[in-house]
Amino acid sequence: MIWDETRKCTLCENPTRAVCEDCGAVVCHEHTRLCNNCGKHLCTECVTTKGVINKTPLCRNCHG
Ligand SMILES: [Zn+2]
Ligand SMILES: [Zn+2]
Ligand SMILES: [Zn+2]
Repeated sequence: MIWDETRKCTLCENPTRAVCEDCGAVVCHEHTRLCNNCGKHLCTECVTTKGVINKTPLCRNCHG
């Protein structure tokens, strides 16, 4: 894939680092989350957290 470095994060003004594998949004490092179970790249909008204290990040698939 050719990376367009001029693109900005969907959620802020930072340069992008990853593409959310769920919704396809381009996000910066700060807004990238990794699913704790399958390692999928997600944006902060798509990640779901399990548990109130530990807040393990999970994708929608792994969260069930
Ligand atoms: Zn961002
Ligand atoms: Zn997303
Ligand atoms: Zn997952």
